[in-house]
Amino acid sequence: MSLFSNFRLVRLEKSLGHCLCGAPEGKTTSPGRAAPTILIDRASCDSFKAYLKSSKRILALVGAGISSASGIGTYVGEGGYWRTHNVRRLGTYGAFREDPSLVWWFYSDRRREAMRAHPNKGHLIFAELARLRGNDMLTVCQNIDELCPRAGQPEASTIYLHGDMFTFKCSSETCTYTRPDNSDPIVPALTLPSTHSISDPSYPLPQIPEESVPRCPDCSSLLRPAVTWFGEAMPPDRVKRIDDWLQSKATVDLVLVIGTAATVHPILSLVTEARKQGAKVCVVNPDRESAEKVGGIDEENCWFKGGAEEILPVIFEGAAGNTGDGPS
Ligand SMILES: [Zn+2]
Repeated sequence: MSLFSNFRLVRLEKSLGHCLCGAPEGKTTSPGRAAPTILIDRASCDSFKAYLKSSKRILALVGAGISSASGIGTYVGEGGYWRTHNVRRLGTYGAFREDPSLVWWFYSDRRREAMRAHPNKGHLIFAELARLRGNDMLTVCQNIDELCPRAGQPEASTIYLHGDMFTFKCSSETCTYTRPDNSDPIVPALTLPSTHSISDPSYPLPQIPEESVPRCPDCSSLLRPAVTWFGEAMPPDRVKRIDDWLQSKATVDLVLVIGTAATVHPILSLVTEARKQGAKVCVVNPDRESAEKVGGIDEENCWFKGGAEEILPVIFEGAAGNTGDGPS
């Protein structure tokens, strides 16, 4: 059990009657739009801060929601389509084999979106907390947009579970070629129009021949983004790093679940394992259902309802410093 297992975080909803409110339920922040103004109950916030301060080991799970205020599309729920394509279908090896041109257009568009975006206050203060906590805080980040590392997220204690789209690897199972690649366009045939986004389905998307899509210089197979697609196994070395950290002698005191539904494998099982060790859960998310699924709404855990860019600077105040001048 955790050293702090008797500490009970104040349940936010107890204070709903007076000064606590967040974004209206069911409404999430659209990419690029400012989050609704939030008010956080002071007692709940102070209670969380005290627990955060006393927590020796922290597991943080970070998802697409933290990048939403930077204008990065989350492609979940109603927004789960790029042009007319369901992203859960498009982000698969099968879709890539079937139409590599289409999948490369998709990633070209997403790369440009990420390159034009900037880390927001949520990224910055989170990275600062992670730097201050060192190896006693492990961050498992599901994002492939590189905004966390650009905010100064420490590499040694961060695991990018889904890879990143600014690294390419060979699609052949027998070839180990990989390289970082920030070029825009990736190849001349994938030049994006300067006047509009190709995410607009009214814009006709050129079909490019297979010989013009990126190729492996070692074996001539197709290159692909070094991301974990739907249906693919997580990189074993990264999963092992998480397991090793979780299985060390000291137990986890706190799990931060930020901007992610945390319902997919292995994210949910990480929450479950940490809770077995006595960890409390703090969820930062506009969505009640997501918070409920990881146990963020009960007597001993807490849910801060809202966008990470507004919530994190408030609840990390004092634990991490001023976020206004962080790296970008
Ligand atoms: Zn190759």
